[in-house]
Amino acid sequence: MSIASRADWEKLLNTLQIEGRAFINGQYVDATLGETFECLSPVDGRFLANVACTRSKDADIAVSAARRAFESGIWCDLAPAVRKQVLIRFANLIDANIEELALLESMDMGKPISDSITLDVPGAAEAIRWSAEAIDKIYDEVAPTSKDQLCLVTREPAGVVAAIVPWNFPLKMASWKLGPALASGNSVILKPSEKSPLTAIRIAQLATEAGIPPGVFNVLPGYGHLVGKALGLHPDIDVIAFTGSTKVAKQLLEYSGASNMKRVWLEAGGKSPNIVFADAPDLEKAAKAAALGIAFNQGEVCNAASRLLVEASIKDKFMPLLVNAMKDWKPGHALDPATKVGAMVDSHQLETVIGYIEAGQSEGAQLIIGGKRTLNETGGTYLEPTIFDGVSNGMRIAREEIFGPVLSVLTFDGAEEAIRIANDSPYGLAAAVWTRDISKAHKTARALRAGTVEINQYFGGDMSTPFGGFKQSGNGRDKSLHAFDKYTELKATLIGL
Ligand code: NAD
Repeated sequence: MSIASRADWEKLLNTLQIEGRAFINGQYVDATLGETFECLSPVDGRFLANVACTRSKDADIAVSAARRAFESGIWCDLAPAVRKQVLIRFANLIDANIEELALLESMDMGKPISDSITLDVPGAAEAIRWSAEAIDKIYDEVAPTSKDQLCLVTREPAGVVAAIVPWNFPLKMASWKLGPALASGNSVILKPSEKSPLTAIRIAQLATEAGIPPGVFNVLPGYGHLVGKALGLHPDIDVIAFTGSTKVAKQLLEYSGASNMKRVWLEAGGKSPNIVFADAPDLEKAAKAAALGIAFNQGEVCNAASRLLVEASIKDKFMPLLVNAMKDWKPGHALDPATKVGAMVDSHQLETVIGYIEAGQSEGAQLIIGGKRTLNETGGTYLEPTIFDGVSNGMRIAREEIFGPVLSVLTFDGAEEAIRIANDSPYGLAAAVWTRDISKAHKTARALRAGTVEINQYFGGDMSTPFGGFKQSGNGRDKSLHAFDKYTELKATLIGL
């Protein structure tokens, strides 16, 4: 089927049998209590599927299956080159099912179909393929000990990993964890967000088709406070790999302390500063990147460029360029291939973001574009991308993660002030600097307390670039070879000579 229009996507949607059950030990199963929740689409409000609402009993069953698979060696004892082949087949199957997966992703969380098909699904396949290809090329170490002993420093799979992921890039965030966790030999339980469980459930079948043995990859859909908490507190899980809010990240640290001190790796929230100096090489390019940085994926992006810091001397020149660039980001039906801004994930998130827009106005910031719900006739949850000028860094819209298309514009004078404002945040996920002065670029990049700093671009990088946060944006890194640190334990084996 060649898909060129919204009508084609609707036609494909009508043919899909959407799976909503959990996947445990190589099979789709209902939740033990038989409970389900309704999965509704934010695109137009339609019913998509009844999804298994798993709880702690289901977590116990999945953890036992994962533990048994791990102890049996059925996966972790395979040669890395063999695991590589299986995972590359898995990645290829994701690519082969790209239209179905893209459609599920867009209908489930509201993102534009053109993003799902060009970024999310290919990005997920690439994440798994990249980790698979790396795994038979990573060597262990010999320590430089005294001559009378030999010390082998080896990496072993951690065991049973629970990956708890958010709804903004459901498949991609899951794959950033599945790739290195599975490649290094662990058994994995994936807990997708209750707001976007469908692609996680679907790829379990593809993993099995690729040859991943029963128990090695399990999927538990359900609510965070039920099955998510049960995983966090479970005494037989070795690692939690989490992406989501800072609030839940902190709860997971508590669960670990209250249970078995499982390793807890956290990719959490952000409030990333995007600093445009007066000597930026191309103001129009910087303005377009600033708009992209907050409007892409409806602003539901952890490293959204949500605080724009503009140097005072170019402010008057820059703002019209910014407003003009933002006009390109109009909400449209998520299945229309021309749409760049889809629906907010649900009405709860829409209301939260509208609450922040009201807070910005009542705190005295100037709303200069957007700010309103739109496309109500679709039955979906659409919001106009929004810019606030005259924001000070103490306002709620500058301090809190809004997780929607709301840009706060602040003004500064000189690098010192820019760095002070940028670092004055509990978060430290990402930042950007626009200048043609190479020395100022590097000095500023060094001074910024963020896991990623981009210079004269935004949303760059690929699987080779580590991704993660300073401060309350988290710990550890996804992507790159550093991601393997999350899923392996380091062993020193000492031999007396
Ligand atoms: P969330 O924290 O509400 O939920 C994330 C996951 O945790 C979901 O699967 C949810 O069901 C689960 N969960 C909720 N309560 C839980 C509990 N008590 N115990 C265990 N699990 C629980 O986040 P969200 O709203 O799904 O996603 C948005 C957040 O994710 C934003 O803060 C965003 O910045 C962050 N995020 C971070 C990154 C990154 O790489 N740093 C990437 C994407 C999103």
